[in-house]
Amino acid sequence: MKSVDVLVIGGGGGGYPGAFRLSRAGYSVLMVDPKGVLGGNCLYSGCVPSKTVREMSLLAARARKFLGAQVKPEFFSEVQKHKDEVQEIRFAQHAEEIKENSTDYVKGTVEVKGPKDFVLRTDEGEAEEVHADYAIVATGTEVERPPIPGAELAITSDDIFSYHPTLTELPDEMVVIGGGYIAFEVASMFNALGTKVHVLVRSNRALREVDSRLVNMLLENLDKDIDVRFNSPTLAVEKRGAAKAVTFSQGGERKELVASQVLVATGRKPVTPKGLDTLFALNKGYVPTDEGMGTPLRNVFATGDVTGKTTYFHAAVRESLVAAHNIMAGGGREDYMDVRDVPVAIFTMPPIAYVGITPERAAAMGMKIAEYSYPLKRDVMAQVYDERIGEVRVFVERETMRIVGGWIIGEDAPEVINEIGIAVQAGLNLRVMAEYAGQHPVPFEDLSYAARGAF
Ligand code: ADP
Repeated sequence: MKSVDVLVIGGGGGGYPGAFRLSRAGYSVLMVDPKGVLGGNCLYSGCVPSKTVREMSLLAARARKFLGAQVKPEFFSEVQKHKDEVQEIRFAQHAEEIKENSTDYVKGTVEVKGPKDFVLRTDEGEAEEVHADYAIVATGTEVERPPIPGAELAITSDDIFSYHPTLTELPDEMVVIGGGYIAFEVASMFNALGTKVHVLVRSNRALREVDSRLVNMLLENLDKDIDVRFNSPTLAVEKRGAAKAVTFSQGGERKELVASQVLVATGRKPVTPKGLDTLFALNKGYVPTDEGMGTPLRNVFATGDVTGKTTYFHAAVRESLVAAHNIMAGGGREDYMDVRDVPVAIFTMPPIAYVGITPERAAAMGMKIAEYSYPLKRDVMAQVYDERIGEVRVFVERETMRIVGGWIIGEDAPEVINEIGIAVQAGLNLRVMAEYAGQHPVPFEDLSYAARGAF
């Protein structure tokens, strides 16, 4: 039997930052993940590989536009190889970090036997009992296939983005089932690579969690070649020769699309260690947590996607550190997570990003806000790339002029949003942003221009 101070279950963004922090503070830490590499699903099949494909496809679109380049059919398989290499670089980087932080890491799966008692199973089927004073559950989520007949014929984001993916040939036509960020990101990148893409959205709304004004702006600015159909629930997927036929209903009519690939991107579901539900009740499969990432048990913490609070790697990282700090406080509350002010980026083309309070949330809270914006058609880089669409918009509490949120639609949105994020977190007055000499000639200066609109 092994005995440790802290057992970290899962090696993703919710797991390793806290594990490293605790190891450095002198705690004995055992971290376990069946992948054998760190980074969780974000690195193995999510953010990192999908952004590699996305950036390469943006490169292809720009090369086509400015160089008249014909993107050769092998380009996609080369992109997939490059993606694997990027993942390998990061797997190796994390392996070094494990050594630097002297954290114990084992490839395996954890089961829960009691609040402080666990079983560690390795691939060879060996089982070892582990006693831990504290545990951090950071087991994330996995792709969930919808209950549509034939859904098993469709691919999922794992087939495209996993390390050593199954999809290595560019489909000439693809039907994407879903209306969330994965559906629209994949639609944008494959469209840029030259695939004819159809998106079937079940309801009349895409990207439900995003302010609808921003969503509408995105939909208006998506490439018109992407065929987005709302109120189009999918009824079935069937084999049709080498292709697949998707039947769906639209305006009361039964319709069909035939494509070489069908992607289901309808959601993810929580993954929890076997036996965790004997310690306390789960909430629709998710682990209930408070602001200090504590569960109903004082010695058990949970972080990242498995808490159902956010689905972002950077949020998981911060939550992991909050849990570590609270373990260092003997299971008390030394640190808290503010999930409201985590920036969110959706890497469509154009991308969108937002942070903090936006108009719909302000209305729901009864907060009076004022807004200041600048159109990207006046932005230097938007002109350089001939992508003169979108805007930056900053929201302030009207009474105090304190910056409470913002959004950006247009290239570089995922980078530029962070400046608004810092302003929100620090509670800065809009005057600070107006007085700041924002860097020229990149879109950061647009924030200064937007803020100066107030004075
Ligand atoms: P997060 O970003 O919230 O940390 P991820 O989904 O990226 O979430 O990572 C969760 C990790 O937890 C995955 O790598 C997964 O393999 C691992 N995991 C899932 N179940 C177990 C388990 N029972 N024991 C150990 N690791 C697990």
